[in-house]
Amino acid sequence: MKYISTRGKAPAQTFEQVLLTGLAPDGGLYVPEELPKFSKDEIARMAGLSYPQLAQKIITPFIDGAIPDDDLQEIIENSYKAFSNKAIAPLRMLGANEWVLELYCGPTLAFKDFALQLLGNLLDYVLKRRDQKVVILGATSGDTGSAALEGCRHSDNVDIFILHPHQRVSEVQRRQMTTVVGDNVHNIAVKGNFDDCQRIVKAAFGDQSFLPEGRQLVAVNSINWARIMAQIVYYFYASLQLGGPHRPVSFSVPTGNFGDIYAGYLAKQMGLPIKQLIIATNSNDILHRFMSRNDYAQGDLKHTLSPSMDIMVSSNFERYLFDLFGRDGKALAEFMTGSHSIDPARWKQAQEVFESASVDDESTCEVIRDVFAENEFLIDPHTAIGVKAARQCNADSSVPMICLATAHPVKFADAVTKAGLNTPQLPVHLRDLFEREEHYAVVDNGLNAVTDYIRATL
Ligand SMILES: *Cc1c(COP(=O)(O)O)cnc(C)c1O
Repeated sequence: MKYISTRGKAPAQTFEQVLLTGLAPDGGLYVPEELPKFSKDEIARMAGLSYPQLAQKIITPFIDGAIPDDDLQEIIENSYKAFSNKAIAPLRMLGANEWVLELYCGPTLAFKDFALQLLGNLLDYVLKRRDQKVVILGATSGDTGSAALEGCRHSDNVDIFILHPHQRVSEVQRRQMTTVVGDNVHNIAVKGNFDDCQRIVKAAFGDQSFLPEGRQLVAVNSINWARIMAQIVYYFYASLQLGGPHRPVSFSVPTGNFGDIYAGYLAKQMGLPIKQLIIATNSNDILHRFMSRNDYAQGDLKHTLSPSMDIMVSSNFERYLFDLFGRDGKALAEFMTGSHSIDPARWKQAQEVFESASVDDESTCEVIRDVFAENEFLIDPHTAIGVKAARQCNADSSVPMICLATAHPVKFADAVTKAGLNTPQLPVHLRDLFEREEHYAVVDNGLNAVTDYIRATL
């Protein structure tokens, strides 16, 4: 299987090449040239598999022989070993045909562990085999950073640098990053905001001449294809628990960068019977505005109680738009130069695939309160947005509605307190988080300050 760029001007790449890079040279994102498809019978035969066994079935065609089966199996098993629940992704019933899929049993308590544990192990395997060292560089507003550090800290062939905006991430989130121990782990607090961090990362990828000879940068944000691939698995897993593929299920997905919901869209394209796919956004609602009004104008950034979805542009949406534009990279490249709406016929097509809702902070707190009153079950603000969107959009109560629970509420104490509830305790493996020693450098807000620091540290 080859991977092609959404902008149509970069050469096709293998899985291994795509794993070891970021954006395509033409500025696009890599997608498979053709998706693997599973028949109903094939999916039915996956029922009863453990999470790692199922992951192997789903992932194998994407890897396309780049890793021998036995090795892949070991990589996958290791990736889900540190999860605190043997089900890996347990389903919990909230109400009649309403479910949450708990995706926060990984080491950093957010769904990003599903992809980044696997990505770390895939990188480690491939780099050892190539006898190559790389530098991972990423920016985080919170959850990505800790999940990436946890996923990559064991790899001798990786140095990982994670930028976060100085004094602008929550204390739990900062400590989850800065207390990760490893010679190859480096936290940089940039004296700026998250956009500044992202700009610096993008510029560094554009000109990598600051790196020592033979080193290259690898991306760990969701433009890395392997992350999307890993997330497809839990859509199949959830459906199979609830009678799939013989009956359809629906998903409501809290999303900012369109990574998680795009994986759901791919699961559907691969043959999984999915009825509704609901895009749930906070007040940073570019995706909801597009779906409801064909308005793709970039708004101002709003700081909400669900900070992991505080974005202005949704980078993975480009991968879906590529399909919507009939895989015409040239037309998409033109659109991406700043258009605010698309051809109405195409837009109608998108509306047939996705529904959407935008949920503000006040409703988020309300839902956290409601769900706690109904079930004595505490959800985090991102999850609450998914639940609220599901309740707004659910058209057919005979179809199970699965809301993806993307983080543990302990990570977002602000929202829980604002909802009038008590913050839960940290899980056992993190209980001493506030006593652990922190390691991070505070660096000026600029490309050179950051690249100088990286060069000096390597
Ligand atoms: C990253 C994140 C999201 C959004 O994920 P997308 O890839 O943008 O869909 C939602 N919730 C939490 C808790 C996150 O960390």
